[in-house]
Amino acid sequence: MRKPPLPDFQRLQVHIARYRQALCREVAGLDQRLRQGKMHAVAFAELAAQYSWIWFDAYGVLNRGSEPVPGAGDTLNRLRAAGIPFCMVSNNASFSPEDIQTRLGAMGIHMAMEEIVTVGMAVKDFVRENNLDDQPYLWVGDQDSARCYAPQPQRLMVNHPQSSWRQEDARYVLFSGNQEYYGGIQEKILLASAQKRSLTFLLANADLVAPEALGSLNMVAGFTACEANIDGRFSVMGVGKPFRPVFELAWKRCGCPPWHQVLMVGDALETDILGGGALGMATCLTLTGLYGPMEGELEQVCDRVGIRPDYVVRSIGMEGQ
Ligand SMILES: [Mg+2]
Repeated sequence: MRKPPLPDFQRLQVHIARYRQALCREVAGLDQRLRQGKMHAVAFAELAAQYSWIWFDAYGVLNRGSEPVPGAGDTLNRLRAAGIPFCMVSNNASFSPEDIQTRLGAMGIHMAMEEIVTVGMAVKDFVRENNLDDQPYLWVGDQDSARCYAPQPQRLMVNHPQSSWRQEDARYVLFSGNQEYYGGIQEKILLASAQKRSLTFLLANADLVAPEALGSLNMVAGFTACEANIDGRFSVMGVGKPFRPVFELAWKRCGCPPWHQVLMVGDALETDILGGGALGMATCLTLTGLYGPMEGELEQVCDRVGIRPDYVVRSIGMEGQ
């Protein structure tokens, strides 16, 4: 089940612009603020010491696939020794927090369970708070992710043995991942349902792309949802970064610190930096992930998408500075 190739950066920009517009409509003055980020090039250790909390994205910041970002584990140990609290805020809706802890631990990156926040953890509450709890829905994601995170699994349209719903019953689509989407039953149901009436799209993993081996990009669940909604006919509710719910879950788990005392560290402008900026966090782009290959033209890229971080670091690993 091969995904189609990723369209060019212009197509990506269309979706980044939509995320940006959605947040700018909600937050007064955000448009201006996002354009004014100073993009100070700094050493991570000095920067971290200025904040009460450090929140890390995972992929592209702490690790790249099954490889750690060099020095990331040491950085966490140093933060812990210095008494600077941190947590991970990830758009992962596939692996359970326990799995994530084990996988990172195998890379020498040790996090306590209370330091791990995933968008999957925010989904059930979000569905309940938005009165969607008793509605049948289509889960776009794989079986493992459904086992970990699906709210009311018996109301899943596919992927679940207890499901007896018909495709026309679906009231919303929850995008967790797209590994089993293209060419499969999930795509068929979504396209068939889309012909008949509007559905609400819930973006759990709102990431648009992820870097692949050999420097190419791979589309992620958020991109699939945005493409399916290119004409804007579905209403979209975001759960993952850059949208509020997953950040608010992290915020509550961290004891509700003032937003400006939190440093959000991420490798993606359209999720980590945009969402962090929208909530008034200081933002730090690290170049070990998505935008690393664009280092030479970073100013122009940031200006083109209208999202400038406050700081830029080459890596959170000490030897990367
Ligand atoms: Mg990332």
